[in-house]
Amino acid sequence: MNLDNELELNFERTIEYAKHMDHADPLGELRKDFLFPQQNGRPFIYLCGNSLGLQPKAACEVINVQLKSWENMAVEGWFQGNAPWMFYHKTIKEMIAPIVGAKPSEVCPMNTLTVNLHLLMVSFYKPSGKRYKIIMEAGAFPSDQYAVESQVRFHGMDPADAIIEVSPREGEYTLRTEDVIAQISEHGEEIALVLFGGINYFTGQWFDMEAITIAGHAAGAIVGFDLAHAAGNVPMHLHDWGVDFACWCSYKYQNAGPGGISAIFVHEKHFEERSLNRLSGWWGYKESERFKMEKGFVPEYGADGWQVSCTQVIPMALYHASLSLFKKAGYMEPLRKKSIALTSYLFYTINQVNLALGEEYYKIITPLNSSDRGAQLSMIAKQDGKVVFEHLVANNVLGDWREPNVIRLSPVPLYNSFEDIYVAGNLLLEISKKLFK
Ligand SMILES: *Cc1c(COP(=O)(O)O)cnc(C)c1O
Repeated sequence: MNLDNELELNFERTIEYAKHMDHADPLGELRKDFLFPQQNGRPFIYLCGNSLGLQPKAACEVINVQLKSWENMAVEGWFQGNAPWMFYHKTIKEMIAPIVGAKPSEVCPMNTLTVNLHLLMVSFYKPSGKRYKIIMEAGAFPSDQYAVESQVRFHGMDPADAIIEVSPREGEYTLRTEDVIAQISEHGEEIALVLFGGINYFTGQWFDMEAITIAGHAAGAIVGFDLAHAAGNVPMHLHDWGVDFACWCSYKYQNAGPGGISAIFVHEKHFEERSLNRLSGWWGYKESERFKMEKGFVPEYGADGWQVSCTQVIPMALYHASLSLFKKAGYMEPLRKKSIALTSYLFYTINQVNLALGEEYYKIITPLNSSDRGAQLSMIAKQDGKVVFEHLVANNVLGDWREPNVIRLSPVPLYNSFEDIYVAGNLLLEISKKLFK
């Protein structure tokens, strides 16, 4: 099946159409590799992969394998067995790289996301003279705001002066690329770091990462991204775009479990820069000589040189289980194709609900154009948004609610179907008629 051709046909809000699309979906079988939460003896239609991805069925087994290694080999497990812990991150790097468009040497799984954001800012936020400002999107995820503020204070500066936030225009919800670029060039020589989300958690807007990178570099700044909502959701080319650094968590679109391990990207152009600060630890030391336990830090080549503590084997095993499913899917290209079709179908469905109600009760604030968004749609109900959301949950459709007024729904191509969206649309119409008519 060619979903692009399929998309040229008009969508229909009928069960026959949804089933037809599912039948023709080459990735439809992958859904069987996941465990769905249940309520009242029925599985949820899970539209919340933007927050916590579903558990791969293999999760339990991969943990057990590691527990067995620990049981049977104990400390010897670091160097012995089929997959010695000492090198365990290497197989994972090979599978992370195609997800973000990097070379395996440029990525490394480690720590958790906000911790990595701090570690990378230690290296890549280097205020000096009048070039000391950070430019970021207004309304970034709170953890990122706190991290940036504290980094600025750590350098002895005032966040109110050193942080520039780019906001949407009056009456708009999302940023215009031209406004981001204009602000970057306007502040040019004052900017030390451009730090953006790949996709904004609230609006679902996918920023033009390549254009932002080019503009940041033209201004002489370093450019980094927090890809929490982009990694495993949209295809990226971090290496080719020349992005300096990035980090993301694995528990959203990458299904590696609550508090799952994060990963970093450092562009290879920075590998040999000895002047970069690092908060170092023994695990970032040159691997072949790590156990000589010598004085004086010598970093391992590549992103691995940013490791601090020893490998977190069990969280990595979970990440491995999930990455295996991305590999099985053929990585991002086929997933993205289905994702565009699914989310466009959700867009269409919500608009059909509005039409049936005779008014725009649900305003979608996520950009319409698929090149400006990933899987997630964020919508604001004209009234009683929380009641609508709770009705969906009570009827086995799980999205999420973000204060003050947004319902986020994210069909995930690894495990959602067109029928899921059809059913969710019916429920939305049903509750809306009750509430608004
Ligand atoms: C989910 C998310 C986080 C969460 O950070 P943790 O350190 O994993 O708790 C941070 N930043 C962004 C942009 C996020 O979407």
